[in-house]
Amino acid sequence: MSSAPPALVAPEVSDRYEAVIGLEVHVQLATRSKIFCGCPTSFGAPPNTNVCPVCLGLPGALPVLSRQSVEMAIQGALALNCRINPVSRFARKNYFYPDLPKGYQISQYDQPVAEHGCVDIVVNGISRRIGITRVHMEDDAGKSIHDGFKDSARYSYVDLNRCGMPLIEIVTEPDLRSSDEAYAFLTELKQVLQYVAVSTCDMEKGHLRCDANVSVRPRGAEKLGTKAEVKNLNSFRYLKMALDHEIARQIALIESGGKVVQETRLYNPDTGETVSMRSKEHAHDYRYFPEPDLVPLRIGEAWLGEIRARMPELPKVKRARFTGEFGLRDYDAEVLTATRPLAEYYERAVRASGDPKAAANWVMGDLLGALNAEGKEIADSPVNAEQLGELVALIARGEISGKIAKEVFPKMFVSGESAAAIIEREGLKQISDTGALEKIVAEVVAGNPKQVEQFKGGKQTVLGYLVGQVMKASRGQANPQMVNELLRKKLE
Ligand code: ADP
Ligand code: ZN
Ligand code: MG
Repeated sequence: MSSAPPALVAPEVSDRYEAVIGLEVHVQLATRSKIFCGCPTSFGAPPNTNVCPVCLGLPGALPVLSRQSVEMAIQGALALNCRINPVSRFARKNYFYPDLPKGYQISQYDQPVAEHGCVDIVVNGISRRIGITRVHMEDDAGKSIHDGFKDSARYSYVDLNRCGMPLIEIVTEPDLRSSDEAYAFLTELKQVLQYVAVSTCDMEKGHLRCDANVSVRPRGAEKLGTKAEVKNLNSFRYLKMALDHEIARQIALIESGGKVVQETRLYNPDTGETVSMRSKEHAHDYRYFPEPDLVPLRIGEAWLGEIRARMPELPKVKRARFTGEFGLRDYDAEVLTATRPLAEYYERAVRASGDPKAAANWVMGDLLGALNAEGKEIADSPVNAEQLGELVALIARGEISGKIAKEVFPKMFVSGESAAAIIEREGLKQISDTGALEKIVAEVVAGNPKQVEQFKGGKQTVLGYLVGQVMKASRGQANPQMVNELLRKKLE
């Protein structure tokens, strides 16, 4: 595992500087087909099988823009509070690479599909608004696989299945001020894009990729410092570690009289350091020009209205509703809206139980605990929302005690059976029948003459002991409140 990078600067030195970070995030859209052809987007197909003349860039093949890609790009942009441009344009971004058979990516340049968005984050109790400069659409390149040495030769392979996968690139303003803020931003971005279901944002599959632009400046200064771009950040944790290292490196450099140069750096998770990949002189000149094979993308009010109407409730609104409508605490609302499937599960459990607070406790406690223990997602829960809701309702109606419910739930989780079926089979129903309870109370009173004597002598606390005996005799099934009343009546 990666070791922590050496401390490059003392805290009292780094405190005199402020970091400035802007992110460029590539997100793969969850469309059925690629952006400019009908090839499937399925993951894990044998190399070079999900391809056609269009995504291979064969001469004469023409791109046709997929409607679903556009709609998902717009939904993603709306979720990031962007303005959608009524007209946007595709542009060719030219460069040579073995995994890019066309010799260019089809991207957007001066007229992106959306601009001027924002994402709110909270770090250490402080809220900050992070500007989204733009969201543009583009097609992905293929993948090069470097396989190392074999038979004393070096092998590299090219898989073109990824060519033409639909991407959106999200560019932030240089508004982030620490690695923690960058981490929080990406977390929020991922949550919101998963809510609108435009991407899985699965980093392991490369569905979310992030480059970070970093500079430092003396605290209080207005002018931005020279930035370096850090690439190869393939987990949130690496992003945070790479930023911390890069910020410290730049401060140490400036403190020793050096100057940050504009360059692209690669993060190496094994050393925890960033290393120079190419300097500005070797920066690409992409020779952008308008894509001649595609007409400008026009998004009229009617179409935009349809897309807006399909937007789901976003986490922020849901959180507010959960605290308002269900009376949940902020923290609970946050946990329960972490993902859309979890929030939807919870709401169904509320409907089935009629008790929002108890349902919240059961979902966050027993259910999430059991799921975590088995590494399962809410979607794979053996207990569905209606079943959990029924369990909560049975407690609310006094048909089983909370204690019995705690024993029933793990059984539901193992077998997938309903609470009612387990309670019925195992005879766990709460005894609320006065006659039956009176009988047990009488037995307990007869069997504990010493304690009864003490109670009559004024020692009120003994009642708790006697209630406990009745509960025990009933195998936990007696209605505790009724036991209490019956005991008092009997003893007084
Ligand atoms: P470039 O022309 O090098 O691509 P852009 O101005 O397009 O630079 O910005 C790319 C990204 O870098 C954006 O996310 C932006 O917020 C960020 N950025 C720009 N200047 C700085 C800076 N001085 N420090 C940190 N990030 C910056
Ligand atoms: Zn294709
Ligand atoms: Mg730029």
